[in-house]
Amino acid sequence: MNCPRCETALKGVTIEDSQVHACPNCDGTWYPDEALGEVTDFTFSELKETELSPSLVPDKLARVDLDKAICCPQCGKEMARYTYSMTCRIELDECSEHGVWLDDGELGTLMQYLTELDKRVSAKEASLATSRNFETLAELSRSPSYYSLPTNVLATLNSLYNRDR
Ligand SMILES: [Zn+2]
Ligand SMILES: [Zn+2]
Repeated sequence: MNCPRCETALKGVTIEDSQVHACPNCDGTWYPDEALGEVTDFTFSELKETELSPSLVPDKLARVDLDKAICCPQCGKEMARYTYSMTCRIELDECSEHGVWLDDGELGTLMQYLTELDKRVSAKEASLATSRNFETLAELSRSPSYYSLPTNVLATLNSLYNRDR
């Protein structure tokens, strides 16, 4: 399997149970199936200790043409670009059947975004639990990032909301 950006042969990288493929030339990474979700369950500092560490920092982007449309390394069909979530500007390339491609540094940006989101939600949760501030909850549930919150956070918010009404 070759890199969709620079044609270099991709190298297999194992992160616990997940199999990822990294380009040794441009540091782009390919996540088959659910692998991206599994990898983003780790923290930024945990990933720094893995073979994906070079892909956290965008220092090889000069080697590729980011404007070029790219094709899935597995089936060769042109991939679709989509934004990870409404509050995060990262654009990912995805083959709906095979997986997701990240260019160099996008993994790092994604991990920082998820860490910030997690902190914001924990802070809101704590203040909700103590002050039972339902207006804050209502506000949070109207925000565009609500549906990209982890399921356990949504469940906590819902139980707080229902318990005291
Ligand atoms: Zn490459
Ligand atoms: Zn494909």
